[in-house]
Amino acid sequence: MSLQSLLLLALLAAAMPASSETYDIVLSGGRVMDPETGMDAIRNVGITNGRIAKITTEALQGRQLLDAHGLVVAPGFIDLHQHAQDAASGRLKAFDGVTTGLEMEIGVPDVTEFLHRKQGRSLIHYGTTASHPAARALAFGTPLKDPFLVAPSGPSTNDAASDEQLRVIENRLHAELDAGALGIGMGIQYTPGATRLEVIRMFRLAAERRVPVFTHVRSFGRLEPGSSIEAVSEVIGAAAITGASLQIVHVNSSCLADAPICLSLIAGARARGLDVTTEAYPYEAGMTTINSALFDPGWREKLGVDYGALQLPDTGERLTKERFEKLHAAPEAVPVMLFANTQQMVDTVIAAPLVMIASDGEDGHPRNAGTFTRILKRYVRERGSLTLMDAIRKMSLMPALRLERSTPAARGKGRLQEGADADVIAFDPQSVGDRATYQAPREPSVGMKFVIVGGAVLIDRGALVPDRFPGRAIGPIQHPAPSP
Ligand SMILES: [Zn+2]
Repeated sequence: MSLQSLLLLALLAAAMPASSETYDIVLSGGRVMDPETGMDAIRNVGITNGRIAKITTEALQGRQLLDAHGLVVAPGFIDLHQHAQDAASGRLKAFDGVTTGLEMEIGVPDVTEFLHRKQGRSLIHYGTTASHPAARALAFGTPLKDPFLVAPSGPSTNDAASDEQLRVIENRLHAELDAGALGIGMGIQYTPGATRLEVIRMFRLAAERRVPVFTHVRSFGRLEPGSSIEAVSEVIGAAAITGASLQIVHVNSSCLADAPICLSLIAGARARGLDVTTEAYPYEAGMTTINSALFDPGWREKLGVDYGALQLPDTGERLTKERFEKLHAAPEAVPVMLFANTQQMVDTVIAAPLVMIASDGEDGHPRNAGTFTRILKRYVRERGSLTLMDAIRKMSLMPALRLERSTPAARGKGRLQEGADADVIAFDPQSVGDRATYQAPREPSVGMKFVIVGGAVLIDRGALVPDRFPGRAIGPIQHPAPSP
């Protein structure tokens, strides 16, 4: 650039002070918190064209003015583990402060169909992994239909795959990654027929494609063989062997009483340079479908619990042996809650610095509605076991960092900085909290005054703006060509 044009630019800049600009939206007077830079100060935030354009102490002009005095302004929360992708769940997520909700644990049966179905109809940003269990069902000739949580127990979950079936699974996963999947989702406990070698081959595929594996590990409990420790060691081993990045999902419910030991295994892997991360949800009960392979014979011995640890959502019915056997053998995928953890253990896991927050959200469990505000209420405000900044980090920056090596679009998320995506929430730190319970799991959270998704105001002074669908697919992703 010539000296002349530099001078011209300087003159122009002097003639047009920043304050003369009119932003699309201005959030004024809030306590702005950014977990990456550590900013924690009263600032005005100007948003234009879906981006955070200005963060300043100076007054800003905007076409839409949102008064954030007394509110905490933070990056929108990113949920890496959101099964329910229906409209009602999207609404609950928005009231919980979630601006991006991704189905990464299990994935969906058909990525193209999923992305097409959500386009223009989603309140929050969305995305999915390529589903190993769905690819496996396809290879066994019993394709799954959406929405599915997990495949019913049968040959496609319990039998070993032939060489030909393994090739079908791999081809399908490649095609699903080409279609826009953000990683590989593996629920190994739901496909116990997958051999150790099959798992390693899936990790190898993920490493070639430079995408992470999200996995529900093979087993839980303390009984050997098949303990939580063994199951976590299996996937850390597969990550070490192949070089794949790994997210171990819900370390709370996969490791139960041995969660601190599992966290030490993950910390050890990280200290040796492996890219292994983990997440948890803040409830003692898990939830899954009762006809899945998770409840094949031996589950009570593994967990040291009886049939009464199972509870049906909504009715609250606790199961007996007879009732369980009937439901487990039925073709219907009845959801069931499993009480096998203690709240004390969950609280220990949530406070651990390694652990990011993810909901495992499904209809019928309060975690679908209340996970994120429960962190702000229970752990920040009531117990003081997390600082507000640490809680925000676990729910925004950490999931963005998990994604962004393979998904460049995530670099604009999880931060409250100039240039970042305008996924912004503003909440009242004194009243924010969950209201969903096991008895009433669909109660929306309270305290989110403003929720902005991609520069569009979705929740305005605590009320949902109707007929607005600002959610976009996370991506597109630049995948390198698979190596031969
Ligand atoms: Zn799971």
